Amino acid sequence: MIKYGELTTKKDNRSFFIKKLVSNIKNVLKDYDFEIKYDRVRTYIYTNNNYIDEITKKLTKVFGIHSIVICHKVNNNTDEIKENVIKILKEIKFNTFKVETKRANKSFEIHTMDFNNIIGSLVLKTFDCKVDVHNPDFVLHIEIRDDGTYIYTNEIKGSGGYPVGIQGKGLLMLSGGIDSPVAGYLALKRGVDIDCLYFESPPHTSLEAKNKVIKLASIINDYSGNIKVHVVPFTKVQETIYKMVPPNYMITIMRRIMYRISEKYAKKLKCDILINGESIGQVASQTITSMSVINNVTNMPVIRPVACMDKLEIIDIANKINTYETSVLPFEDCCTIFVPRHPIINPKLDKCLDYEKRFDFESLIDKCIENIEVVKDLNFNKFEDLL
Ligand code: ATP
Ligand code: MG
Repeated sequence: MIKYGELTTKKDNRSFFIKKLVSNIKNVLKDYDFEIKYDRVRTYIYTNNNYIDEITKKLTKVFGIHSIVICHKVNNNTDEIKENVIKILKEIKFNTFKVETKRANKSFEIHTMDFNNIIGSLVLKTFDCKVDVHNPDFVLHIEIRDDGTYIYTNEIKGSGGYPVGIQGKGLLMLSGGIDSPVAGYLALKRGVDIDCLYFESPPHTSLEAKNKVIKLASIINDYSGNIKVHVVPFTKVQETIYKMVPPNYMITIMRRIMYRISEKYAKKLKCDILINGESIGQVASQTITSMSVINNVTNMPVIRPVACMDKLEIIDIANKINTYETSVLPFEDCCTIFVPRHPIINPKLDKCLDYEKRFDFESLIDKCIENIEVVKDLNFNKFEDLL
């Protein structure tokens, strides 16, 4: 039984949210045999006992789910409920318990309190235990609904958030660092469907660096299932900047061009926003002044989910979602290779415009976009081998 997350507060869009969630669940579980039913309050997945652990693990990564409950479904028949309660509790070690009946089906003949008593007495009689209403070892939940009675004893926390896709699409600028995979995860959590854009500069950056990015994408793809990685051949742009722009402005100009490419390509992919892992003050290109001068090249909204987080807070999330270990592998990104010793922290817009007149960046941008390579098959194990 799936309990919905935040979406239950959004009245008008509710059925759209639930349909999206159900389709995301079907997508994640496509390799399993199961049946799915849903209504306004719950989604039910019926499956064979053998798959339960695997399916539960997958569901903990589906956004829009508040919790996952492993239930035993029986008919709305007191004897059958009693029989199953005993069967279920035989599997658990406990000293204290509490019964909580929910009688959603009002035509069921026994009232809630009476039913709690009937089941409570049965448990007391059958097992060596006590009732504790305040702090029991577990709560025995019995939900009597129209289509049957659901019995369960524990609830597994889901990831919360909104179902991926209900907020449209965004393009994540994904590097091999710690921040951008976390930014992508957080955007997915708010229901944004994402694709990833990675700028590579071979031979200054290695195949390992690229595989690392694809592997990071594959890890966050567990929360989506739809992610593709688009790889931009960025070498020519970087080499041109290296020749034409004074060292202290190289990063600023490079990032302005990254943003231009990202915006243009995002429109092609029908993405409405850009997402990246910038965090205020982290490096020279992420001072407020730098961000403003860099952001100046685009009108597209740029969402920076980790902008106001400390590095340690970002690392905590990276650990939680399992990207940290991959992010810290030592392969150079395009940014790290051309880093000047003194990048400017308060760049001036008119200077950028002057430097950009020195070369035909428009045609370089078009070339980059023409030659983008799309990686669709994010097979985690395959990239593990290559690292
Ligand atoms: P770190 O975790 O080490 O800070 P980072 O990925 O955040 O790594 P920055 O140089 O801080 O690296 O870059 C800021 C943001 O710009 C990144 O979070 C990412 O969104 C984007 N970015 C940087 N380099 C690339 C790249 N090669 N391809 C795509 N996006 C990039
Ligand atoms: Mg960073």
